[in-house]
Amino acid sequence: MQVLYQSTRGKGEPVTASQAILKGLSDDGGLFVPTSIPKLDVPMEKLSQMTYQETAYEVMSRLLTDFTEEELKNCIDKAYDDKFDTKEIAPLHEADGAYFLELYHGATIAFKDMALSILPHLMTTAAKKNHAKNDIVILTATSGDTGKAALAGFADVPGTKIIVFYPKHGVSPIQEKQMVTQKGDNTFVVGITGNFDDAQTAVKKMFNDKALAAELDQAGFQFSSANSINIGRLVPQIVYYVYAYASLVRQGKISDGQEINVVVPTGNFGNILAAFYAKQMGLPVHKLICASNENKVLYDFFSTGTYDRKRDFILTTSPSMDILISSNLERLIYRITGENAEKCAALMQALSEGGEYTITEEMKAGLSDFYGNFCDEKETAEAIHEIFEKSHYVIDTHTAVAAGVYKKYVKETGDITPTVIASTASPYKFTRSVMDAISQGHENLDDFGLADALCSLSGVPVPKAVEEIRTAPVLHDRVVDAEDMPDTVKEILGIR
Ligand SMILES: *Cc1c(COP(=O)(O)O)cnc(C)c1O
Repeated sequence: MQVLYQSTRGKGEPVTASQAILKGLSDDGGLFVPTSIPKLDVPMEKLSQMTYQETAYEVMSRLLTDFTEEELKNCIDKAYDDKFDTKEIAPLHEADGAYFLELYHGATIAFKDMALSILPHLMTTAAKKNHAKNDIVILTATSGDTGKAALAGFADVPGTKIIVFYPKHGVSPIQEKQMVTQKGDNTFVVGITGNFDDAQTAVKKMFNDKALAAELDQAGFQFSSANSINIGRLVPQIVYYVYAYASLVRQGKISDGQEINVVVPTGNFGNILAAFYAKQMGLPVHKLICASNENKVLYDFFSTGTYDRKRDFILTTSPSMDILISSNLERLIYRITGENAEKCAALMQALSEGGEYTITEEMKAGLSDFYGNFCDEKETAEAIHEIFEKSHYVIDTHTAVAAGVYKKYVKETGDITPTVIASTASPYKFTRSVMDAISQGHENLDDFGLADALCSLSGVPVPKAVEEIRTAPVLHDRVVDAEDMPDTVKEILGIR
């Protein structure tokens, strides 16, 4: 069955999966959603015997229907290879009454690798299928994690270049070192003197600049985006929920058909939406537990029906969840309006103009699969401490928000359904906060010293991603003002 993609704001004809991946965002500003969600018609008996790569093919082929079997398998093989430090790609670890789904075994030790390892291959395949004559230029503004994961994904992928802008004084030392040591002839990393918003605004402006697009086209280039609203990032994330379920069946932890809960530390609402799609495809999921940090817009939304971004932005120890506009929520809103693009567009307009919107009682009923809660900074640190003390298992700050929220959920509901917690980053990515939670007396250590200390305390080897940047040479040292970003792009691409 052919699956097409249409905009959540309704204007324009549906497009194929490959066209949606190439475009990223619909011209009317909406997000692409599948016109129908196909059932995963493979018996669990079979799925439970499959590798991650085989599972990925079964799931993705149902949704990316204009890709041939050969094209899709080729993309999957290039993405999920020995860049991951475990054969299982996404292993489960049982601790403290839950199953932690470790999504951080890829090149940059955070869950964004799960999708950004395959997106470049989906995108270049999509370009070929649609006879795009130009090379693709990925432009990204990053506050830290997305930039590195996108760089690692696109490095040396033929037919692409990637340019990442980051605030020179707005990322952690490890994050900066990860980016400026990036190898690959097609990678470009540029520090800017402004903040993340300046970088983001300038990138959006370049995407909408028709004159610049014409100049690029002349020179054989076109812009595209690797950010998390691309359907090419969402679809690969459905895979690991199916794989986790099948692994639990294989290990005899649950029986075929038994329901599980899923807990997801949430920012942009991409990861948990993938779990929701997995449920729509037929995976036996009971509750989707949405965990927020102190930037708890989503918790407030689930409890009141009002989404209100008009509040202070709080810097927390789980920075990848510091977000007040969860872009992917629009896809859920579209669904609970009964796929009414006009209503969805009106709510999104209210959000951008007035900073808030409220859904109807009828729409609220569509949220019954979800449970929302949040953890403050103290509860987050306590969750890390408690799991380390009880189970000698180290989790990062983002995962800790999820673990803390899960505790609250069980206490509130008494629900003992087997539960998978999405573990979204290696503790070695947020070493200082993790060490602060489990130990004392390391205040004078630098980030690498802290990594060694965490290693001797936990017995978990320091990941290659951290070892590599200890001594890696700096390959990118451009720093420009935000207003000079378009000129920098032209210079990089050799356009005068
Ligand atoms: C991006 C990110 C998240 C949030 O994921 P969303 O899909 O944006 O909700 C959570 N944890 C980590 C470590 C991340 O990098």
